[in-house]
Amino acid sequence: MSGPTGAAPLLQMTLRVEHDIFVVRQRGREVAAAAGLEHQDQVRVATALSEVARDLLRTVGGADVTFIIVHDPAGGGRHLRVDLAPVRPLPDGHYEPQSGAVARLVDMLGVVTEEGDTVVRMSRRVPATAAALTPERLAELHTELGRNAPGSAIDELAAQNAQLIAALDEVRSQRDELAVLNEELAETNRGVMALYNQLTEELEETNRGVVALYAELDEKSAQLRAASESKSRFLANVSHELRAPVTAIMGLGRLLGDSASDPLTAEQARQVGLIRSSASDLLTLVNELLDLAKAESGRLEPTWAEVDLRPLFGQLRGTLRALPTRPDVELVVEEPPAPATLRSDEVLLAQVLRNLLHNGLKFTERGEVRLRAERRGDRWLLAVSDTGPGIPPEQHDRIFEEFYQVPGATRVGGTGLGLPYARRLATLLGGTLELSSEPGRGSTFTVSLPTGGA
Ligand code: ADP
Repeated sequence: MSGPTGAAPLLQMTLRVEHDIFVVRQRGREVAAAAGLEHQDQVRVATALSEVARDLLRTVGGADVTFIIVHDPAGGGRHLRVDLAPVRPLPDGHYEPQSGAVARLVDMLGVVTEEGDTVVRMSRRVPATAAALTPERLAELHTELGRNAPGSAIDELAAQNAQLIAALDEVRSQRDELAVLNEELAETNRGVMALYNQLTEELEETNRGVVALYAELDEKSAQLRAASESKSRFLANVSHELRAPVTAIMGLGRLLGDSASDPLTAEQARQVGLIRSSASDLLTLVNELLDLAKAESGRLEPTWAEVDLRPLFGQLRGTLRALPTRPDVELVVEEPPAPATLRSDEVLLAQVLRNLLHNGLKFTERGEVRLRAERRGDRWLLAVSDTGPGIPPEQHDRIFEEFYQVPGATRVGGTGLGLPYARRLATLLGGTLELSSEPGRGSTFTVSLPTGGA
């Protein structure tokens, strides 16, 4: 019988009596070795073969055994194939090995019907590294196998024993290797667990620290909030209480200087003038304090509306031009680019800008004070820049503190409350107020506001 590839069989033999099982097994190993299978695979094929041979001898009285090398047309390489053609038909045309493990010894084991012939077929892949079987080598093998007289059952038993010992030896060394690996794994596990426990402990420790810190922080912020609230309340109350007497002083001063009153000497008129100007300064301070306290206490609610920057700028230009300014200082209010609208509180925004422009005019001796608007993404940048003395970087944060005035700078009146108030308002409008300045290079205060409001 020949395979589908048309290759000539390597060896053919008959299986009829008990002794033949040993011969089939022995020749099977020899053929497997000749075909290039590794030692273990030779034993596997031989063992599978002897099991199937025993089954077939018992159930159908024997078989004709054919060994053949086939090339897998699907590109799976070479296979050693053994076909066992039963002498009587298989019961129900079916074959199931007695021992289920047999099928695992080879790559394929099953019943195949080809051109009307039914055979029990098994095959095992030949490693790609095995020497190729040239027709010459095949012919050689053929004669070699034909020449070798099969040994006795005793010989085969001895060979089988030797194989068993080798297999057991291998199993033991594999088990030893496994034990070493297991030990190493357990060791690593212990290390990992120790590390994990240590990390967990450290994490818990840190967590406890963080929790304590947060509790402390909460307490501190509550204290701060309470302090800030009482400060605002105090400022609001004091300023409110102060406003009435200061206004009264100003009124009295005006009365004293009035032409309807008794005439004053020149010295008295000078002193009354001083009283009135001091009272006026005091009133400004009191009013600014009141504004700031209101803004800080959260009682100042912006009235949101669509604000057009152009009329707002126009109004600022008008009111500030009316102020007495230095002849060498020019006030420039640029026309904002259209469309110049945003959602904001017009009154509060005007207060912020007026405050900044006012400062610019107050501190600049020559050059210009400029207001310009620039749209950047979804924000408006409103910048008030001047060519004044500038502010040293280390003072940039401080000038936004209440009552702070840059030391050494020419004092031109003021309370030191304008900038903190302006920043407060900018925040209330959902924006920011930032300064960029250097001594000798002027200052630029920039109000950045979202176009959509807070
Ligand atoms: P005030 O102007 O009433 O003193 P502000 O809070 O408005 O208070 O300003 C705080 C301080 O910041 C000022 O006293 C001044 O030293 C400094 N400053 C503010 N604006 C300018 C500016 N445009 N150029 C230089 N310095 C300024």
